[in-house]
Amino acid sequence: MTRVVVLAGGVGGSKFTLGVREALARRGDPEATVIANTGDDLWLSGVRLQPDVDSLLYALGGVNDTERGWGRAGDTERVNAELQAWGAGWPWFTLGDLDLGTHLARTGWLREGRTPTEVLGRLSERWPLGVRMLPMTDAEVDTHVLVEGGERLHFQEWWTRHRAALVPTRFENPGIEDARPAPGVEQAIADADVVLVAPSNPVVSIGPILAVPGVREALSATSARVVGVSPIIGGRVVRGMADVCLTAIGVETSAAAVAAHYGARSAGGVLDAWLVAEEDAAAAASVDLLGMRAVVAPLWMRDTAASAAIVEAALSA
Ligand code: GDP
Ligand code: CA
Repeated sequence: MTRVVVLAGGVGGSKFTLGVREALARRGDPEATVIANTGDDLWLSGVRLQPDVDSLLYALGGVNDTERGWGRAGDTERVNAELQAWGAGWPWFTLGDLDLGTHLARTGWLREGRTPTEVLGRLSERWPLGVRMLPMTDAEVDTHVLVEGGERLHFQEWWTRHRAALVPTRFENPGIEDARPAPGVEQAIADADVVLVAPSNPVVSIGPILAVPGVREALSATSARVVGVSPIIGGRVVRGMADVCLTAIGVETSAAAVAAHYGARSAGGVLDAWLVAEEDAAAAASVDLLGMRAVVAPLWMRDTAASAAIVEAALSA
């Protein structure tokens, strides 16, 4: 029996988590616990959005829009058109009607006094997800981006409106120093046999999870193996703008540099092993030198079977 914990962001995290669910079901292992990034969260038009949480929820629930890559399949935008007509919300940020149903349900429960962990528990009951979902923290620690010129933007404005074109100098999660891991997070890491770091954005998806005080300590104390999967293939991000984020924090866009950024657990970092793509096989030696085991494997998450094969490789690392 292998107990697995996954640290995950949104779209990349979802593709990977579908593979985790499949691989564990095949092995007869218990359901994984997924610790989701909530650094992307925001308040908009009076509702609480949790983009990474919802990407995971919709993908695992089988109701995500696979063509567009975000939101609910078959969604419409009637309410969004009304919000635009009122000049409410952000004109560059679309809220689907079905998606708004999720945000209203969540916001209602939060307003009634439930914690984000409890709300995610309720949202997890609708579809058989095949994993246990936890937010990284119950605190609101939305990501801010400081850009050249000194302006401070909410991460979603920088990412969605500006498509990461304003040069970032810093990413911050105000208040995170006083945040605590959500109930269950530290225990899940302590009880795990393997912790998987999904091939999510290292800076704005995995970064906030690791920045919650207590998470790094839990990772360093667990007897589990901690295995990461590179989001960089052949020296490039597969999709998205993670390279811009990496550059801003002084990390090169390469599998080896991201491994060095996470660091080996034996040297005060978080990883025992790092999966690099076949395209980056030449980087394996320098990853080994960091004090972690490099494992070369195909890392394209073409479909769930491909993701499951990556997870198999990570579990036997
Ligand atoms: P977001 O929160 O929606 O931005 O998604 P994540 O942070 O979870 O994942 C984004 C990262 O996934 C990007 O940096 C991509 O490089 C990575 N990614 C996307 N598809 C693949 C894939 O097929 N293989 C690997 N190894 N990484 C991928
Ligand atoms: Ca995200």
